[in-house]
Amino acid sequence: MENAGLQNVENKTLLDYATHKLKKENITINIQNITRVNWDKIGTQLKEKLIFFLRKKRNRGKLMREKWLKEREKDSVRTQMFYAKKGIITGEMEYVAKVENLNPEFVRSEVARGRLIIPANINHKNLKPMAIGLASRCKINSNIGSSALSSDIEKEVEKAKISQKYGADTIMDLSTGGNLDEIRAAVIQASEVPIGTVPIYQILHDLGDNIEKLTIDKMLEVLERQAKQGVSYFTIHAGFLLRMMPEVAKRKMGIVSRGGSLMASWMLHYHKENPFYTAFDDILEICRKYDVSLSLGDSLRPGALADASDTAQLGELKVLGELTLRAWEKDVQVMIEGPGHVPLNQIERNMKLEQEYCHEAPFYVLGPLVTDIGAGYDHISSAIGATIAGWKGASMLCYVTPKEHLGLPNAEDVRQGIIAFKIAAHAADIARGRKNARNIDDEMSDARYNFDWNKQFELALDPEKAKEFHDETLPQDVFKEAEFCSMCGPKFCAYKITQNIMDDQESIQEIIKENEESEK
Ligand code: SF4
Repeated sequence: MENAGLQNVENKTLLDYATHKLKKENITINIQNITRVNWDKIGTQLKEKLIFFLRKKRNRGKLMREKWLKEREKDSVRTQMFYAKKGIITGEMEYVAKVENLNPEFVRSEVARGRLIIPANINHKNLKPMAIGLASRCKINSNIGSSALSSDIEKEVEKAKISQKYGADTIMDLSTGGNLDEIRAAVIQASEVPIGTVPIYQILHDLGDNIEKLTIDKMLEVLERQAKQGVSYFTIHAGFLLRMMPEVAKRKMGIVSRGGSLMASWMLHYHKENPFYTAFDDILEICRKYDVSLSLGDSLRPGALADASDTAQLGELKVLGELTLRAWEKDVQVMIEGPGHVPLNQIERNMKLEQEYCHEAPFYVLGPLVTDIGAGYDHISSAIGATIAGWKGASMLCYVTPKEHLGLPNAEDVRQGIIAFKIAAHAADIARGRKNARNIDDEMSDARYNFDWNKQFELALDPEKAKEFHDETLPQDVFKEAEFCSMCGPKFCAYKITQNIMDDQESIQEIIKENEESEK
């Protein structure tokens, strides 16, 4: 059922584009473009051709990684960092270099240094390699997952597909309800992007929601089970230590990370050190075996502006820096998780401290939200913070949906969150001066100035939404050629008025001459 999730998707321009390409027997069709085709409106023959190309392209991706993995199957260690340190450029590194427009040797050296990670579990064979780090484009993560109150495999697979359709670079399956192994297997199978998890959720689920039953053996068993399935990165809360508890007591909001609060319960119950910290070396062995990257979690991220950048948060960050060095020694790739709720004026400092304490390992931030009062619109309050974070040093932005703090997001919330964060990441790429980042914006400006409405829809981050809004008032085809939209109408369209002025080259030349003379 290749096209089951692609029904009812409107985009005539992309259909035209695909038709044109097919006519010329050119098969370089972009999967994202194909997914936007209106499947209801195309003939059976063309539909079959499109599906054929789509399948071929997907299989090509699958075979591509299978081949690389086969070539390395007898190696004792198979992490990207291991190869990078040995001076070997893997297929994954080459692929990333191509996508990111970077030199493969540079990608290798960044992976070896730990500044760039390629989360790619050896068992996720249909994965398309991607990189997280300052040398590459700013990435976004989408969180999906069931809860005890709502668990359905199909719904999670749908969220995974929507996440990819709108451009999520990684997906975290944060399921806590239903059959977690089955949900995860289905999500991994439906994803070409790396899948991350927070294993403590499954550990707790398996323990009947009683954290006091947690043992290191159980912890490692779940980690290995998930690694075997193909999870490409684990969020583990290993940097939150017993000695930090008094700092938590001083806070307005205490601990807002689910994993962090569970660790606190366990540590307080047993008066023992955090088991993820105690068993860190064993965890590294599992990560090394399957090439699972570590996303070192910030249990003490601030959940309120009042708690931002406090001793608890920064104390944990320093421990994450120590753990980073230990992971690198074992050739395990690492990124660091960051806040949270942070006032706008503190974001830049937070990015700099992470670089300093964590030896430039990629920073993966949740938001951050720049105000606590955006309930219902927290995708906006967090995208504002994420833009600054991406500009000042974060490598990946974890999206926030409008349901944040209020409920479990549905597929539409996922879409809203992703688009908000695609905007943030793209704005950050432009601000950092990443190569060619602004090209698409310049193309959009040309399309706007030339009233090329279909091109505008095509270039938008959410083409369907752009078309839907345009067509709300001017749906007829004739208005796709109109030199105005319903915002200002035909008489007050500023672009049109400007075009008319610019057409009067005689007057413009006269003004240029007058200016030159007055400057003499
Ligand atoms: S009518 Fe106004 S909003 Fe619409 S294209 Fe012209 S200037 Fe832009």
